[in-house]
Amino acid sequence: MSTPIAYQKCIVCGATFDIHAVLASCERCGNLLDVAYDWSRAALPAKIADCGRADATVDGGLCRVSGVWRFGALAPFAPVECRATIGEGHTQLRPAPRVAEYVGLKKIYLQYEGLNPSGSFKDNGMAGAFTHAAMTGATTVACASTGNTSASMAAFAAAVGGKTRAIIFIGDGKIAYGKLSQALDYGATTLLIKGDFDDAMARVREVCAAQKIYLVNSVNPFRLEGQKTIMYRVLEGLNWQIPDWVVCPGGNLGNSSAFGKAFSELYELGLIKKMPRLAVINSTGAPTLTNLVNERGLRWNDGKVDDAIIERYYGELDAKNERAHTVASAIEINRPVNLKKCLRALARTGGVARAVSDQQIMDAKAWAGREGLGCEPASAASVAGAKMLVEQGVIDRDATVACVLTGHQLKDPHATVAYQSYDEEKLRESYGDYGITTNRFGNKPVAVANDLGQIIDAIRQRGLV
Ligand SMILES: *Cc1c(COP(=O)(O)O)cnc(C)c1O
Ligand SMILES: [Zn+2]
Repeated sequence: MSTPIAYQKCIVCGATFDIHAVLASCERCGNLLDVAYDWSRAALPAKIADCGRADATVDGGLCRVSGVWRFGALAPFAPVECRATIGEGHTQLRPAPRVAEYVGLKKIYLQYEGLNPSGSFKDNGMAGAFTHAAMTGATTVACASTGNTSASMAAFAAAVGGKTRAIIFIGDGKIAYGKLSQALDYGATTLLIKGDFDDAMARVREVCAAQKIYLVNSVNPFRLEGQKTIMYRVLEGLNWQIPDWVVCPGGNLGNSSAFGKAFSELYELGLIKKMPRLAVINSTGAPTLTNLVNERGLRWNDGKVDDAIIERYYGELDAKNERAHTVASAIEINRPVNLKKCLRALARTGGVARAVSDQQIMDAKAWAGREGLGCEPASAASVAGAKMLVEQGVIDRDATVACVLTGHQLKDPHATVAYQSYDEEKLRESYGDYGITTNRFGNKPVAVANDLGQIIDAIRQRGLV
């Protein structure tokens, strides 16, 4: 029997599994799985600039609808008729001169994933996961979520799943309103678990294993196949030049893992000659990756990750009952499920990890906003992280840097309005426990009488006429 073109493979022990198997981890050693390919049997583009130009006659025009499936040649795990899409991935890379000045770079690019149908990059991944779900005949899907995974899953279940039923596990009180509203609107069964994201994640894994429900969290390797395309679009936006750095927020570390896989594959296939370096940015309120890498020396080490370091760290968190706590709710995660894959990505790209404060995140977010690119707090960790790395001399002032803005501003308008408009006393009252005490880049609305003269005065005082 010939080897299949696509299969699943454990990142640590190398065990392989059928592409149709529904697994949340390696059956032999419990580690994460990759989608792996026999590239010699794939129909690959001849050069990088041909990527993303899938032949519309092959897949019935789907590649025009989907910014994921137009790169389908680089994720050849599914028959074309199984490919799921809600029109994801029509996102853009934008130069951001004001942000560049703030960060201390000559130029910077922002990859705006808020443009996805459900408002976050998660749609790229769900295109992959729902495609695999269709291949396996799954009819019920579930996820734990800080909000965006659930919004995306619920949208896909409603739009492409037909009779697919969706179950969401959310930490009670731990979700931004924009995201909760989406889950409810799209008709998903939404369970508010007493606990936080890490609790919800542990429970959903147990429930999915016990009830044979299809899990779409980023432990699902097919999610990451979809998210690879974010990097293809960054390269495309740079006219297929390779940036020096890609900076992204780190929560469950699926995105950083997917980016590392995307670049590793392109490199191995000879489609790119140089690897960008990856910078993964935590909030100081959820700094697991940064602490493990920078303080405890945890490394990929060719797959021989020192599990004892990780267990000791989690043991210490439990002993202190320390919970993730950050205004950047999408990265409010202390036990990132893709930790080892992210370590691999850092090793392969010469990457770094950093943690930025919630104050730095909200300041950076205000600058992204001034570019007309509204993002939610977690997304701005990438901009704040780029600034930190420039200040530390890690990123060169002349470097080409792409920051991923992972989610749309309207996901969490509360945080934005508070930062932009509150006086500092009120800001400290409501966001002080996140360490947010000033809003020097705020843009307060101006209260003015319903009076023509006073309105013109107010405009004139601001030098607008
Ligand atoms: C999910 C999410 C993240 C974190 O991504 P990971 O892949 O879990 O590291 C960051 N920002 C936003 C807006 C998200 O929705
Ligand atoms: Zn294994």
